[in-house]
Amino acid sequence: MGSSPVGGVFFTPIVSGAKMEKKLVKDIPKKRENISKWYISVIRKADLVDYAPVKGMMVIKPSGYAIWENIQKILDSKFKETGHQNAYFPLLIPESFLNKEAEHVEGFSPEVAWVTIGGSEELEERLAIRPTSESIICAMYSKWIMSWRDLPVLINQWANVLRWEKVTKPFLRTSEFLWQEGHTAHKDKKEAIEETLKIINIYKDFIENYLAIPVIMGQKSDKEKFAGADITYSVEALMPDGKALQAGTSHYLGDNFSKAFNIRFEDKDNKLKFVHQTSWGVSTRLIGGLVLTHGDDSGLIIPPEVAQFQTIIIPITRGDWKETILPMARDINKKLMNSGIRSYIDEREEYTPGWKFSEWEMRGVPLRIEIGPKDIEKKQVVLVSRVDREKRFVPVEKLEEETKKFLKDIQNQLFQKAKKFADENTHYTEDMKTFKEYMKEGRGFIKAPWCGDEKCEMKIKEETTATIRTVGDKAESGNKCIVCGKEAEYIPYFAKSY
Ligand SMILES: [Zn+2]
Repeated sequence: MGSSPVGGVFFTPIVSGAKMEKKLVKDIPKKRENISKWYISVIRKADLVDYAPVKGMMVIKPSGYAIWENIQKILDSKFKETGHQNAYFPLLIPESFLNKEAEHVEGFSPEVAWVTIGGSEELEERLAIRPTSESIICAMYSKWIMSWRDLPVLINQWANVLRWEKVTKPFLRTSEFLWQEGHTAHKDKKEAIEETLKIINIYKDFIENYLAIPVIMGQKSDKEKFAGADITYSVEALMPDGKALQAGTSHYLGDNFSKAFNIRFEDKDNKLKFVHQTSWGVSTRLIGGLVLTHGDDSGLIIPPEVAQFQTIIIPITRGDWKETILPMARDINKKLMNSGIRSYIDEREEYTPGWKFSEWEMRGVPLRIEIGPKDIEKKQVVLVSRVDREKRFVPVEKLEEETKKFLKDIQNQLFQKAKKFADENTHYTEDMKTFKEYMKEGRGFIKAPWCGDEKCEMKIKEETTATIRTVGDKAESGNKCIVCGKEAEYIPYFAKSY
């Protein structure tokens, strides 16, 4: 297999033969029993990441990076369809820039890493390694935007950022991570809010329909919003341990940054006005979210839409397989790839088919195609789903359409399964005791009336560890705050967050 796109290195065999097959999955802790250990075990065995020499950083290996590339490809086309363009801004930001917007600097300074020496010389001004790029981008926008004719500015950047985190976990929270950050400038509030909402809806659509993860979408409380924003919208997903994962955010920045960076334009009425801005992003954290949501005790399950390989072909290596089965397997692989399916054929001779089944299950390939001597006679192949091992026998002449159909079914099945879990673990209560019981047992999203006061929000956090994930719907008259008993303003979604 000289032309293998994954390279020759899979797993280091510990023991050989049949014992090896057991070993691969045997060492994973059960997901139900210890999701945290299960997570680390699976992402390492499935070869998505490795730890880096600097604590809190990760190496994203080819199998992990391929998922990110698919995420990028899909989102990038959605951004471009809605009029955005990509650009690139520098990694280093002068300290004075970061200091211009007061809330922003306060929010980010605890986790900024600084460059203080260049070569052998101490720098006159410290340079921040970007934790996010509002400040450097706004500094540029103040040069670029002069007139109403220059608006709107709709720019996205694919980049890495650095936030010095104390507690880290690959993909879910790392000091350096990859993301995209959109930064737009508009003539007024109305247009900027429209943009903010447009993007959060793109995120919701992407996460639900491509990553097969159901989300709730809504506004953040003032306490939880982005440092420097007027309004933050977010999409939040419920993970199997009942904790919420913030999967994407879109911020309306108002004119906070344009005032700090003096981004003004001459409007049609010849008056100078400050632009209204937005910023928004999703990151490699999404990969952590899909691993947690879909994986099981046999390893990863990658939704077909973002899987590196959607089908793995495993020829049954028996007898004269090289003359009989292999040519058919190669032919089928070619047919699938020609029809736009990301397919791969595992031709390795040194591993048994049983080992390969376990390995590709571990790697989460959604559909396995087995080809044995009987299948050649019958001119058929056997498709096996990664989700529940459902088998479908498919005649070769219907291969492409049946494979596509099966992949679609798997995509849908994954979403429905996750949706069912989220629905079953979303509760409503007006009683603090019940709230605490939910938090002690399966956790989940807890909807409870809230007056809007930050003190009550803080009290819930102190007593239950749950925070407001989104403020939810407006309360109805008669709803009383679960903490203070005053008239409620919202029915937020509370949860313990990742
Ligand atoms: Zn209250």
